[in-house]
Amino acid sequence: MRKLAAGNWKMNGTRASLSEVEAINAALDDTDPAVVICPPASLLIPAYDIGGKIGIGAQDCHMASSGAHTGDISASQIADTGATYVIVGHSERRTDHGETNDMIKAKAQAAHEAGLMAIICIGETLTEREAGETLAVLGKQMSGSVPDGATSQNTVIAYEPVWAIGTGLVPTLDQIDEAHRFMRAELLATLDEDAQHISLLYGGSVKGSNADDIFSVPDVDGALVGGASLSAHDFVPIIKALSRA
Ligand code: PEP
Repeated sequence: MRKLAAGNWKMNGTRASLSEVEAINAALDDTDPAVVICPPASLLIPAYDIGGKIGIGAQDCHMASSGAHTGDISASQIADTGATYVIVGHSERRTDHGETNDMIKAKAQAAHEAGLMAIICIGETLTEREAGETLAVLGKQMSGSVPDGATSQNTVIAYEPVWAIGTGLVPTLDQIDEAHRFMRAELLATLDEDAQHISLLYGGSVKGSNADDIFSVPDVDGALVGGASLSAHDFVPIIKALSRA
């Protein structure tokens, strides 16, 4: 599995923040895993221009390739910036914009058609976890939002418990292990044997202080990081922990 540390800047950052991209790039060496930063759309081009070894990704794409969709950005437009990744189905998009599994699958397909790596996010709410529905929810999100054409060359899946995003709460290692084993088994049951090579990221309050533990879980191939990806000071220790794993 390809190890990947991906940063989701959400609606944070202006051109002044590009110095953090430069500092993260400067800290990378040949032993480090793949690193991707997903800045807001306004920074895709300048981040790509100075990104060096860092891959650049967008945080969402439209499912159509062009047309009358004010405020949206298509996968091919993202690819045109030099970016090579796009996050789809983040829980904040599912909640704030009512995105459904069907929409997310169509967005992932659009990403694939544009030659982008889709980072497809799934994860349960606290209510669902407390009701014992976590694996059922993950199964439904996977079958609903991962397209048939998903391979290790075009897809990464991020397990992000909604209750762990931006809260400082982190599942136990056993809970992460259970979710990631389940996701791997689902991929193997529904896709061909290449599915075993699809990278599975954990996301939700990852920090330098908990990264070593999280990366010790067998089917965790990396992390999708929100708040701690905004600065080199916080993100580089996570990248280095993934190098050690
Ligand atoms: C995220 O938004 O994808 C995320 C994981 O955020 P945080 O690391 O801040 O919890």
